[in-house]
Amino acid sequence: MKKVRVATIWLDGCSGCHMSFLDMDERLLEIAQKIDLVYSPYVDQKEIPEDIDLFIVEGALSTDHDLEIIKIIRKNSKKILALGDCAVTGNISAMKNLFGTEAVLKKGYFDLVDLNATGHYPSKMIPKLLDKVIPLNEAIKVDFFVPGCPTPADAIYEVIQGILEERPVNISTLTRFGK
Ligand code: SF4
Repeated sequence: MKKVRVATIWLDGCSGCHMSFLDMDERLLEIAQKIDLVYSPYVDQKEIPEDIDLFIVEGALSTDHDLEIIKIIRKNSKKILALGDCAVTGNISAMKNLFGTEAVLKKGYFDLVDLNATGHYPSKMIPKLLDKVIPLNEAIKVDFFVPGCPTPADAIYEVIQGILEERPVNISTLTRFGK
């Protein structure tokens, strides 16, 4: 049986949704029979491969690098799953939008530091922040939305099984926004 090529990534997220993925525990062994994990924080693959069947994305889009990556992901993937509230709505990552990029940078790199030898933002060391943090679907087409903060393992398992078996799923009792 040909295995489904799956990838995962976290962009502007806290990794909590990836931790929940691992919380599937022994069910990971069952899923591993059906998928090849071709790119992920869980595996040592540096470049995003082509021809991915399902790309699971945690986190919102906050930087020009996130935008660049998500466009590559869209180009290389048949289906994209937004995992967790940050990917679906912006959530905690988008709280920056209440204050604005300049105010957040000033707070982080000047007001709250004891030493900033250069007196500048480290613009050459970090990707440029976007003016506004956005969820995935404001930049690309998203095929599946799975809320939760973090998304519980039971919901992740049910969704992945549904996708692999090409059947509809109902996860309304398994997860919700902010859960
Ligand atoms: S949805 Fe919650 S757990 Fe998932 S990446 Fe965002 S903050 Fe972390």
